[in-house]
Amino acid sequence: MPAKIIDGKALSLSIREQMKSEAERFETTFGRKVGLAVIKVGANPASEVYVRNKIKACEDVGVRSFSYNLPEEIAESDVMDLIDELNANESVDGILVQLPLPKTINEKKVLARILPEKDADGFHTLNAGGLMLGLPCTKPCTPAGIIELIKSTGVAIAGKNVVVIGRSNIVGKPVAMLLLSENATVTICHSRTVDLKSHTLNADILVVAVGIKEFVTGDMVKDGAVVIDVGMNRADGKLYGDVNYPEAVEKASFITPVPGGVGPMTVTMLIKNTIESAFRCKEN
Ligand code: NAP
Repeated sequence: MPAKIIDGKALSLSIREQMKSEAERFETTFGRKVGLAVIKVGANPASEVYVRNKIKACEDVGVRSFSYNLPEEIAESDVMDLIDELNANESVDGILVQLPLPKTINEKKVLARILPEKDADGFHTLNAGGLMLGLPCTKPCTPAGIIELIKSTGVAIAGKNVVVIGRSNIVGKPVAMLLLSENATVTICHSRTVDLKSHTLNADILVVAVGIKEFVTGDMVKDGAVVIDVGMNRADGKLYGDVNYPEAVEKASFITPVPGGVGPMTVTMLIKNTIESAFRCKEN
């Protein structure tokens, strides 16, 4: 029997409904809307789409967005000045810098400049460290969304063998940490992993974040596995995942589609992080 589709769009919409009332509660209590600043540098076409989606999500939920479209040739010091300004701005609860930045700007330096409590993406070293140590922190959006998607299937994470393919700082490593804190037995695979298939065939839950179109084929998927496809690969004007969907759908019990799986959840978690930061700052 083909896998059930994990509908990230539908899950996103239902979480956004809950967030709407949280955003309203904030406004009623504190007399202003929750605010998210979105900084984009240059004109990367993919970034334009992502930023548009994030601003639209803010509008849907009742979060005020502050949008900054900076020219490609802007000096790093000017980006830093803007971040300082936003750090000090009491109407701004979250700051997001859309990546990638132009090569002339040091990404690490820029991300480190955002106050950890306004770090809507959860990329600041203090938040990454908090995740590692199991301390309260802002969780990175895509990994947090992946956990929600898995939980929505009703399949328990605790005790399961989970294989994550990819060890990036924004997806692979943090999602592995979150899965570990959910008591999964986690294996992280990467480009130097020997005999990848022997690992993936042992995965009750398989999370794929490689960035190679249809990299995971059906013969790499264990019967009945939950498959989470993080990949977003553009080819022939279409979006493809990292998993060969037509093959994997015949093996898995649950699978995320691309598009409509992980992507919408990433945006939703960003807004959720911002609303939570807003309350945390006021209540602490
Ligand atoms: P990344 O930084 O390029 O990392 C890719 C990872 O895949 C690396 O750890 C790499 O291993 C590993 N890898 C590459 N080739 C491999 C191979 N042959 N076998 C096993 N592992 C291999 O990518 P990322 O930022 O994590 O993103 C991954 C994908 O997710 C991309 O398609 C990206 O567009 C997508 N993405 C989607 C969302 C969303 O919201 N849906 C968010 C973020 C990313 P090494 O470390 O050894 O090089």
